[in-house]
Amino acid sequence: MIRLVEFRDIKFYILRDDLLGEFNGNKARKLEYFLDLDLKTDIVSHGSSQSNAMYSLSVFAKIKGVKFHYFVSHLNENLRQNPIGNFGFALQNGMILHIDSERESAAKAYAKTNNMLFINEGVAMVQAQHGFKAQAKVISEYAKLHSKIFDIFLPSGTGTSAAYLSKYSEFDVYTCPCVGDSEYLRMQIHALEPNSDVKVLQPPKKYHFGDLKPELVKIWQELRDETGIEFELIYDPVGFITLLANFKNFKNDILYIHQGGVLGNISQLQRYKYKGMI
Ligand SMILES: *Cc1c(COP(=O)(O)O)cnc(C)c1O
Repeated sequence: MIRLVEFRDIKFYILRDDLLGEFNGNKARKLEYFLDLDLKTDIVSHGSSQSNAMYSLSVFAKIKGVKFHYFVSHLNENLRQNPIGNFGFALQNGMILHIDSERESAAKAYAKTNNMLFINEGVAMVQAQHGFKAQAKVISEYAKLHSKIFDIFLPSGTGTSAAYLSKYSEFDVYTCPCVGDSEYLRMQIHALEPNSDVKVLQPPKKYHFGDLKPELVKIWQELRDETGIEFELIYDPVGFITLLANFKNFKNDILYIHQGGVLGNISQLQRYKYKGMI
């Protein structure tokens, strides 16, 4: 699960959480607690129509034999007519879609009225921490076995994975924002873990979530060609660009976490193709 790879003449370790099974990546880690619960109620969440969390929740609901209601604020015409990527797979798994411009409050109200379990956008909630204890242990055992000290790096959305991995790991955890700016990410991390010592690095330039940029798809392609690993196309390129820009600041061997989400690449690649960028 952990192995050494080389990219642009530098070496780093990688934890393949994308290979945990059909249910994989950091969303699987976040939902581990709920997976072990004797859950009888249906679940309700909200977010974007291409989110990795949405897809993972659809798999989770299927495994648990419960219904999954998902609220989006709008659905674009392309996706409605041609449901692909995370969205298409989530629908195939039985996701029940609701469209409401006030998606968060609508989802909460729906869960309350129907006595269902509400799951925060991106599963950013305290229950998510359990799975990261196990992740920290995998890293720790590998490090002991190979006499390594790691600087761990993972790109963030809500910062939940970074906050909880850092809570349970003996190693320093570094991250960068892929949504919003560093200040906002620090705030989110401290809302979950007030004493968190996660180190937030600034990407060399500001990216909005899901931005189509030549340098992002380029590094993604290079990574695929050089390492033979398919990374995720929204978070990982920003992560690697930030990691490389700060490379000299790391003191120990770097462990990068592949947090899954590659099913979302289908629709993101299609957006790049429409724009004639690949
Ligand atoms: C959801 C996701 C993230 C962001 O995780 P957070 O815990 O919200 O920071 C990063 N990478 C991938 C591939 C994801 O699917």
